[in-house]
Amino acid sequence: YLTRTPPATVLGASGDLAKKKTYPALFGLYRMGFLPRDVKIVGYARTKMDDVEYHKRITAYIKLPDADPDAPTKLDEFKKLTSYISGGYEDSPSFQKLNDYLGQIESAYQTKERNRIFYLALPPSVFIPVAKHLKEECYVFANGKNRIIVEKPFGKDLETSRELLGALKQHWTEDETFRIDHYLGKEMVKNLLVLRFANVAMGAAWDKNSVSNVQITFKEPFGTEGRGGYFDEFGIIRDILQNRDDLLQVLSILTMERPVSFAAEDIRDEKVKVLRAIPPVERNDTLLGQYVAANGKPGYLDDDTVPHNSICPTYAATTLWIHNPRWEGVPFILKAGKALNEAKVEIRIQFKDVTQGIFKDISRNELVIRVQPSEAVYLKLNMKTPGLYTRAIPTEMDLTYKRRFVEAKIPEAYESLILDALKGDHSNFVRDDELDVAWKIFTPILHWIDGRSGPGPKPVPYPYGSRGPKELEAFIAKYGYKRTVTEYTWPVMNIS
Ligand code: NAP
Ligand code: NAP
Repeated sequence: YLTRTPPATVLGASGDLAKKKTYPALFGLYRMGFLPRDVKIVGYARTKMDDVEYHKRITAYIKLPDADPDAPTKLDEFKKLTSYISGGYEDSPSFQKLNDYLGQIESAYQTKERNRIFYLALPPSVFIPVAKHLKEECYVFANGKNRIIVEKPFGKDLETSRELLGALKQHWTEDETFRIDHYLGKEMVKNLLVLRFANVAMGAAWDKNSVSNVQITFKEPFGTEGRGGYFDEFGIIRDILQNRDDLLQVLSILTMERPVSFAAEDIRDEKVKVLRAIPPVERNDTLLGQYVAANGKPGYLDDDTVPHNSICPTYAATTLWIHNPRWEGVPFILKAGKALNEAKVEIRIQFKDVTQGIFKDISRNELVIRVQPSEAVYLKLNMKTPGLYTRAIPTEMDLTYKRRFVEAKIPEAYESLILDALKGDHSNFVRDDELDVAWKIFTPILHWIDGRSGPGPKPVPYPYGSRGPKELEAFIAKYGYKRTVTEYTWPVMNIS
């Protein structure tokens, strides 16, 4: 129902997220015809700037696709839809001014319906005053809907997350709130529900009887590069595994039971259920690393914005266990690191060994879901080597999206999520109880790393540009992972 004429307000419009993600996504939706008719976009922040400067900033990261010859014209139209006013985050008069401005825009609308959507592209330190003032000064009480979109990170541990959650709830209901976790907008993460529940062959193998271990991996090829101040406060676990970007969200969709329907609350109920079956991460199920200088690249401690004796982990592998009948005993290894050898996000499900006897040292099946870059799903299978003799060889059934769906445009995560928020679909946003249970899993280990219960653990070093700490292989092997055998001979099969 917000498909009718909402003014969408981006608070923090002068910032990094706004220029890199929010405005490019809004333009993408406009260009493809998904924004409501007559929509107006209002930027708001403290910085004083005129329209020329504002348009320069918000379009700096917009790429015009070659395939759309109308894109430059559409960009000009888009600029005309967007305007900017400046104001503070902590005072009522600024928000009264914003309210007046939104009122002026709405007075030109033909309809009585007044819908408003507010996107907080702001640091969490101002979430609460902004949410409060928006409710007090800019909220529509009649003939309309109000929505607020907030970005994670949401707190630093269970206690601070609950504080923030509680403070926002005083002003905005759960139904009005959309908490962004951008992995939930990724095409391959959304695809998990279809892959799992629309395929009997997949569903049949999706449990402890067939699966040996699962890895969910995030790899980044660069370090903090002079911007480590923020990172050092959070560390890799909060940054990638659980809070800002959130591999735990991916895990919950991968492992939840079949929802009764695709309705948002049915999906989120199942996610919460599976997360509640995961006990807090144990210290000995954790491997922490920190990158050091190598190949001409600086180490983490060479970053001037990082304390010289920081023990903040830039790599973490943590193993989670799910105590339910489907997954009891299967290790789920979440791995994330900076300054590694490649950029990728993938889910790797390794199946158990085939019954021994006729085969020896044969590779295990693996289902790999490549989230980024270059979306793909491939299943590693053993096949007979073509020819006159019979020998098994590891191969793969490969569904590479670029090859299979040549014409398809895969939406950016933010395009998909902003559209969902406009439509009022909560399925791909994080519910309050999901956030709470996720913090319960990670808070004890985070407090240990933060040094709250004695000296924090010292991460092991790994060279910039490597796959991670050398201890990783033994860590993963401990949970039963066996790397694909590529060089092996297998006895000729006796086919009678
Ligand atoms: P940012 O650039 O540091 O801040 C956005 C705007 O907020 C700034 O332009 C500034 O605007 C205002 N601001 C900054 N620091 C402030 C402070 N201490 N007090 C009051 N206002 C302040 O942040 P961002 O990178 O855009 O991130 C916004 C939110 O999205 C954060 O919660 C962040 O964690 C999350 N996020 C960011 C990214 C990303 O790619 N950047 C990705 C995922 C999530 P004025 O000075 O003009 O008011
Ligand atoms: P792989 O290189 O055989 O295996 C990658 C896995 O092994 C990752 O879990 C990686 O861990 C680990 N690993 C990599 N180097 C290692 C080392 N030196 N020591 C120990 N572990 C190591 O590649 P794959 O992804 O299984 O792919 C197999 C085949 O599938 C490829 O040859 C290709 O033909 C096909 N494929 C297709 C696509 C596609 O887009 N359709 C993409 C990739 C592959 P980390 O992740 O922690 O580094």
